[in-house]
Amino acid sequence: MRNDILVNKFRPLPRDYEPNSLVSVTSDIPKEHLDPNHKIMIVDHVLTAFNKMRNDIKKQGFDIEIDSGYRSFEYQVNLLNQALEEKGEDAYKTLAIPGTSEHQTGLAIDFCITTNNIYNDDIKGDEPETIWVHAHAPIYGFILRLPKDKVDITGFNYEPWHLRYVGSELACYLTTYNLTLEEYHQEKTLLTRAPHS
Ligand code: ZN
Repeated sequence: MRNDILVNKFRPLPRDYEPNSLVSVTSDIPKEHLDPNHKIMIVDHVLTAFNKMRNDIKKQGFDIEIDSGYRSFEYQVNLLNQALEEKGEDAYKTLAIPGTSEHQTGLAIDFCITTNNIYNDDIKGDEPETIWVHAHAPIYGFILRLPKDKVDITGFNYEPWHLRYVGSELACYLTTYNLTLEEYHQEKTLLTRAPHS
């Protein structure tokens, strides 16, 4: 799987797609906040990158953890069904249709804030931790995948907690030029299709 793979509502993954080299994430998140039937897993090099970022944010007196990582097609089906029961159609605003979630790639994470052992997964985007993460994530290879000003392009609401690993070179490029992964792939397609002069 390439780090720059595009998965969205128009580019779904096959039902049986499962990433290689998934590893378990050891978590200090209090048990009551975790789904007992779901182990948090992520692609190994993504965990390495996240741990580097976490080490550095700790030096600022903050802490963050991975709240959600790889989700199988079937797990996404369950999440969506549960949310549909609770919220009705509104569930589609925050949960992807199975196959269209980047979480199935094992390259996407949702983080929560665990500074001073207080668990906060209700991330708004203006917390000092989140501001730090958004400013520094590209150095570690992550992009803010669903930004506020790109809702029309990504097809998803602003999700300040959702990060996507693409590698630091691409992450820095996308962030510098304020490009989504959709725009990057479109740009790449146009460049390959451009006639040679
Ligand atoms: Zn997410």
